[in-house]
Amino acid sequence: MNTTTFSLDNARALDQADPLSQWRDEFHIPPAPDGGDSLYFTGNSLGLQPRRVARYLQEELDDWARLGVQGHTEARRPWMPYHENFTELNAALVGAKPHEVVQMNSLTVNLHLMMVSFYRPTAERPAILIEKPAFPSDRHAAASQIRFHGFDPDRDLIEITPREGEAHIRPDDLMNLIKAEGHRIALVLLPGVQYYSGQVFDMATITEAAQAKGAKVGFDLAHAAGNIPLHLHDWGVDFAAWCSYKYLNGGPGAIAGCFVHERHARNESLPRFAGWWGHDKSSRFKMGPEFHPIPGAEGWQLSNPPILSMTPVLASLEIFHEVGMNALREKSLKLSDTLWAWLEERLPERVDVITPREDKQRGCQLSLRLKQGNGREVFEELERNGVICDWREPDVIRVAPVPLYNRFEDLYHFVERLEAAIKG
Ligand SMILES: *Cc1c(COP(=O)(O)O)cnc(C)c1O
Repeated sequence: MNTTTFSLDNARALDQADPLSQWRDEFHIPPAPDGGDSLYFTGNSLGLQPRRVARYLQEELDDWARLGVQGHTEARRPWMPYHENFTELNAALVGAKPHEVVQMNSLTVNLHLMMVSFYRPTAERPAILIEKPAFPSDRHAAASQIRFHGFDPDRDLIEITPREGEAHIRPDDLMNLIKAEGHRIALVLLPGVQYYSGQVFDMATITEAAQAKGAKVGFDLAHAAGNIPLHLHDWGVDFAAWCSYKYLNGGPGAIAGCFVHERHARNESLPRFAGWWGHDKSSRFKMGPEFHPIPGAEGWQLSNPPILSMTPVLASLEIFHEVGMNALREKSLKLSDTLWAWLEERLPERVDVITPREDKQRGCQLSLRLKQGNGREVFEELERNGVICDWREPDVIRVAPVPLYNRFEDLYHFVERLEAAIKG
């Protein structure tokens, strides 16, 4: 870490020197009660609206008004192949080949569709490995898949937890578990970035170790996509799924992304839940009874794409493409280093950061735990003072400075208001 001391002048100097500072103007920043900009640190939960979304949506509404059904082929972005607009953008975002990615459905739906194909339990190998505490939806999805196949989550859902008194999972503990239990694990389903602690998992190493044991490996990238650089193809991950409304700013409930490694692209023997949009494009409208999947991730699509829910994501992914994940990551680390250093400078006896310290083990988010145990009250006081961060039971305040629209000055005001809230 190489950071400056806590002062408004230093914060402003960092903003002056920031090559990405102008991107903030591309977003609507929610106003604070006093009329100024709020301090928005929940880009990890719901990203802000890019200004260009309204224009893109209006274009689709106009095309629908003007063209009716002919918009499928005649709209300025024709609706029939609309999802193809996302291919290059998603491939760059997650480090994939174009035919390995598709924009479809929502996150939990995609996790289920992927498990239909890649969770194939047997009596000898029935288990799914997840982390604890996992995001509830992931746990529900995994446990229900286990039950669906006639197995028992009490026995066959393996949950790796941090050690007693520790806040995140030791990478060595995870490796040792995979080595010891790998023979009975059918699927490893872990997050890229853990939603509670902000811990980044070493996806390359996990994939290699679990596959060597004969397991399939899928990642939930809800908190990783748009947050950290990803190389899913090179890492050899079997599948991944992510939502588009957190770091990706695609709007509440936005249509999600999905990755299937090309080694599975042409495997027609994989079980899958099929729909017409996954069928070979050249014969789709012959409306025949046989199903021939498109080779690659597109072959897992079910329905024709919901244009009005896809459009904000398209607008937003273009921004990621224009800025580039490497530039974003560089600023992101500067932001979180600065926040961490200022917390240590001002509040060393009061605040613990439970996110791992090492750069490669964290993304934008820092998870704060108050040593005096009054986190909930402090959080509520922050809310009254124009700070938008979030509270996660039992005792964590999550703060995610994101490089597209957060400023160093935001961090200064955050630490100032946190100090005031703690010290009263
Ligand atoms: C945000 C999030 C979800 C949300 O799932 P939806 O299907 O989009 O509602 C699921 N899992 C994780 C890990 C998340 O962070």
